[in-house]
Amino acid sequence: MKIYYDDDANLELIKKLNVTIVGYGSQGHAHANNLNDSGVDVTVGLREGSSSWKKAEDAGLKVKSVAESVLDADMVMILAPDEFQKGIYENQIKSNLKSNAILGFAHGFNIHFKKIIPDQGNSVIMIAPKGPGHTVRNTYINGGGVPSLIAIYEDSTNGEFSAKDIALSYAKANGGTRAGVLETTFKEETETDLFGEQAVLCGGITALIKAGYETLVEAGYSPEMAYFECLHETKLITDLIQEGGIANMHYSISNTAEYGDYLSGPKVITDKTKEAMKEILENIQSGNFANEFLDDCRQSNDGSGGPFMKSNRKSTEDHSIEKVGKELRSKMKFLNSEKLVDKEKN
Ligand code: NDP
Ligand code: MG
Repeated sequence: MKIYYDDDANLELIKKLNVTIVGYGSQGHAHANNLNDSGVDVTVGLREGSSSWKKAEDAGLKVKSVAESVLDADMVMILAPDEFQKGIYENQIKSNLKSNAILGFAHGFNIHFKKIIPDQGNSVIMIAPKGPGHTVRNTYINGGGVPSLIAIYEDSTNGEFSAKDIALSYAKANGGTRAGVLETTFKEETETDLFGEQAVLCGGITALIKAGYETLVEAGYSPEMAYFECLHETKLITDLIQEGGIANMHYSISNTAEYGDYLSGPKVITDKTKEAMKEILENIQSGNFANEFLDDCRQSNDGSGGPFMKSNRKSTEDHSIEKVGKELRSKMKFLNSEKLVDKEKN
């Protein structure tokens, strides 16, 4: 698979365009500031009365209402939450967008599941950093970047440069080509991203941590011990796996731990788990998951998630692993330093 680095992308292309970034949250603040520091002409589009308006202005960025911000834009990068993108696109972007403007996304959700149907003439591209916004910004500042995906859904450019050239140029301005950029499709990015976060990265790992913690606490061990064992140490282990692979982690841990890994891992994650994972994937591929999520969001108008989301947030908050964890983490001030720095900046 071809991986694109700095030398494969031409920064001058994106510098010739007026780029509007809609939203100034996790991804929005990172892309807007990275592009601005790379010499790109950036405007941030926000809703009237947005609490982010002043933050973006204080960072030296031009800020306009979404409708105004897209009028002159050659490229509009939509970095508001996925569940609001359709409404923002239909009410504030569509009728104000130049007929040949490029629409950009950092996740294929709304395009792939056909929630947003762009007009003919608009190219549709994706530049998706594989990391949270604070990392996209902090790595850029430190001279690095976050590996990113690009994808082209529609190339309506008919000039010298293709939509892919522009996606690579944007990725370069955002620091992505410093780490490596892979080309994918909207379908592949959307379905694998949703599957990964549901089955492994977010849903899978939190279910595993909670089940392990509960097993120890129910057997009479102290919550503090169970917390360190089942939650705190996951980072130490996953860091080893990320840095050097699974065998590298096995090499670093004791032989006792390695033996126990081989013996018990397959008892925890069984064929039944894999069956469940297949069902999760099918539910994503069919578009059912997207509809369920958007239906839940529609049942609440305050923008903070629907009833399913809220009740699960509440039961997570009430779980004893969160209570004991809060206490223990307050004594470990060195944790989360990267995020704390980022919050101060925002
Ligand atoms: P955030 O939740 O951080 O976005 C919040 C921003 O969107 C705020 O500036 C908010 O405005 C603005 N916003 C919300 N609703 C509206 C609205 N109705 N009109 C105008 N602006 C609005 O989003 P993320 O950065 O998490 O996600 C953005 C995109 O990036 C998504 O497509 C996501 O899938 C993708 N992505 C996210 C990653 C992540 O780590 N978070 C990683 C990779 C991709 P206000 O300031 O007024 O509240
Ligand atoms: Mg992801």
